[in-house]
Order: sequence, then C-alpha cells, then structure tokens
Amino acid sequence: MSHFEQKNTMQQSVDENSQLKAQLKQLLSNAHENQLKLKRFEQIEFKLMAAESIEQLLVIIRDEYTSLFKLDDCALLLEDENLSLRRLIPDGLQNTPNDHFLTLLNFPVELEKLHYLPTELMTGFYHSNHHQWLMNNPHIESIAVMPLMRHGRKIGVFCCGSYDRTRFQAHAACDFLQRLSFIMAVCIENALNLERLKLSSMTDALTQVHNRRFFDQRLPQELSRNDRALTAISCLFLDIDHFKQVNDTYGHGVGDDVLCQVAQRIQTGLRTHDILARYGGEEFAVLLPDTSNDEAMMVAQRIIDAVNKDRIVIDKNVILTITISAGVSTLMTDDTMIDDTRSDSLNDIKSLGMKLLSTADEALYDAKKQGRNRAINAGLLALIDSVECSQKFQC
Ligand code: GH3
Ligand code: MG
Ligand code: MG
Repeated sequence: MSHFEQKNTMQQSVDENSQLKAQLKQLLSNAHENQLKLKRFEQIEFKLMAAESIEQLLVIIRDEYTSLFKLDDCALLLEDENLSLRRLIPDGLQNTPNDHFLTLLNFPVELEKLHYLPTELMTGFYHSNHHQWLMNNPHIESIAVMPLMRHGRKIGVFCCGSYDRTRFQAHAACDFLQRLSFIMAVCIENALNLERLKLSSMTDALTQVHNRRFFDQRLPQELSRNDRALTAISCLFLDIDHFKQVNDTYGHGVGDDVLCQVAQRIQTGLRTHDILARYGGEEFAVLLPDTSNDEAMMVAQRIIDAVNKDRIVIDKNVILTITISAGVSTLMTDDTMIDDTRSDSLNDIKSLGMKLLSTADEALYDAKKQGRNRAINAGLLALIDSVECSQKFQC
C-alpha cells in the first residue's frame, strides 16, 4: 500500500471513529433524557396513586402535571351521562368560566363525539376544527389526545397542549403517555368510586337529602369557616305535624312518600350552599350560612308555605294537606371568634354548633305547643351557656 493510500485509510477510520463517538454520545444523551422522563412520569404516577380524594387527584393533574412537563395547557373531559359526577366533584373544579381544565360531558352530541374518538393515543398538530371541543385554546400548536379507558369503556379523555409545533409529533413513540393515561384512568375511576361511597354514607336512603352524620360533620366546619362575607349563621329545625296520623291512617308506604315530597319542597326553597339533612324520623335540620336571623325567619316561613300550600298527591284517592313546624336560631360568628391556638377550640366549636341546633329544637317545641304550622324564633344565641345543650344532640 502506498503512503498516500495508507494515509487515506487512516483518515477514513478516524472519521468513522468520530462518527461512532457522536452516535454513542447521542444515544447516551437520549438514554439520559429518557431516564429523566421516566423519573418525571414515575413521580407524577406515584402522586396520582397516593391522592386521597377526587379533588386532590384533579388538582395534581391540573397543576403538578402541567408544570412538571412544562405543558402550555391541559384539559380533562369526563363522561357524565347521568349527571352523577357533578355531585361528586367540588364546584370549584367544574366547568368554571376562567378555567376550562375540567368539562363534564352529558349532552348527547358531546357523548357521541367522545364515543367516536379513537381508543388509542393520538399526537400531532392542533387543528381547531378537530380539537376545539377538546381544548379551546387558539395558541396551541400541537396536541396529545389520551383516551381514558376502563373495562373497554371510554370514561373520558385527557389532552396535553403545547405552543411548540414539534412537541407532540404525529405517530411519535409515546409509551410513557400511553402508560400515564392508563394509570390516570384507574386513579380517576377509583377516586370517583370512593366519593360515591362517601356520598352514600352521608345520604338518607329514603329522601336522598343528606343524613344526620353529614349534618353533624358540616356544622362545626361551617362555624369555623373564616371566609364568611357576613357574620351570621342560622339554623332551622323542622318537624312534620301529626305525621303519626298519616302512617296510622294510610300506612307506612304513604308516610314514606310524604317524607320524600316534603324533603323536596324544603330543598326547593333553599340556596345551593344551604345544608339540608333528614335529622331523624320526620325531622329535618337546615343550616343557613351567611344568613341573619330575620332572613332565616323568612326562609322558615317560605318552607312552611311550600309544604302546606299545595296538597300532596300520593295517588288519585290519597291527596293530603300536610303542615310542618319550625324553630329558628342564629349565631353571630364575630361573637364566637375561636382561638385556633387553644387545644380545646374544636370542642368549643362543636358545642356551639350543638347549642345552635338544640336552641332551634326548643323553639320548634314552642311552635308545636302554639298550634303547629308555624315558625318560632329563638333569636340570637346567648353564648354564656353555650356548652349546655339538650341530651338529644349529645354535646
Ligand atoms: P307532632 O306534630 O307533635 O310532631 O306529631 P307527630 O305525629 O308528627 O309526631 P310523633 O313523634 O308522635 O310521630 C312521628 C312518627 O313518624 C312516628 C313514626 O312512626 C314516624 N316515622 C318516623 N320515621 C319514619 C319513616 O321513615 N317512615 C314513615 N312512614 N314514618 C316514620
Ligand atoms: Mg312530627
Ligand atoms: Mg318528631
């Protein structure tokens, strides 16, 4: 081999060597990048699995997932054909005007679109005519659409959006996203089932309003809320008049129907944030946050009128006039400034709540004595003896 040929061969192997080195460097860098990506996915997956409520889970998806993966937008759409999810998911997370993160789909046209969405993950350019219903953001350039599948059924779809056109490329290998969408679907389904269980343990099976356990839990929570705009909270204690006669005359089945219809009439007269519970047999308790004593008396009268105004129709032979009596009490929350640093402050709040309820119950007793079908006002609570309350409320 001539000197020139030798030099040429050496140059070739130097070139090949540096090409191989560059390839190896690229492979190592890809492996390192994938390892970091895997770590980030694992980090978010562990968090999703550890979430203790649907609220926590959705906040992790909305906030932590978006910032960890530097997404420009994300959207979650869940199938809600029978409108059950809106009772399970906190109001602040649903269809809020400034935040399109979560949409509950229940209109037939929306459900149909979800149905026809492919079951496989899709990535590619954002086309507003195709993707607007999934993510309504004109700045998005590329999108990943991850159907959430459980037991062969699409329970929803999660979408990630980026302002970068190359971020989610068509047909890119997206094993991590595929795995994440599977884990997300399992976690969402589990969290919703847990909320269903919680809700059913707090719901009265007959009337479908809250039960006493729910009310007793919410009462101290409402009293210790410090973001109240006004400074009064009121309580109504209600009891159907002569209800035993209904049972004795028409039987328990009719009595049950009357209970359900009365519960509905009470609920109709309340605001969404008022809390109604069936407290006992034919007794209901209502908590009215941010409500003065005068306003509470008006609500009580509205309920009394709603119950007795139109007769309750059971069937064509049984049409009943039913009346209800009410006791009303109110607590000024600025009077009750509870010192959070004191270890017994929770007990103070609980006894205040029970006192509010037992005072309304005493007023109800007066309403019965004075002829029924009326509201009696116990007025503002005297705090001096707030810890004393009747045994019925187990203070
Ligand atoms: P008052 O005007 O003094 O309240 O008289 P009342 O007859 O309504 O009160 P009383 O306490 O004497 O009777 C309450 C009745 O409510 C007795 C009980 O059998 C009935 N009751 C309690 N729970 C249920 C229920 O779930 N279904 C039915 N049908 N009746 C119930
Ligand atoms: Mg009664
Ligand atoms: Mg009673």
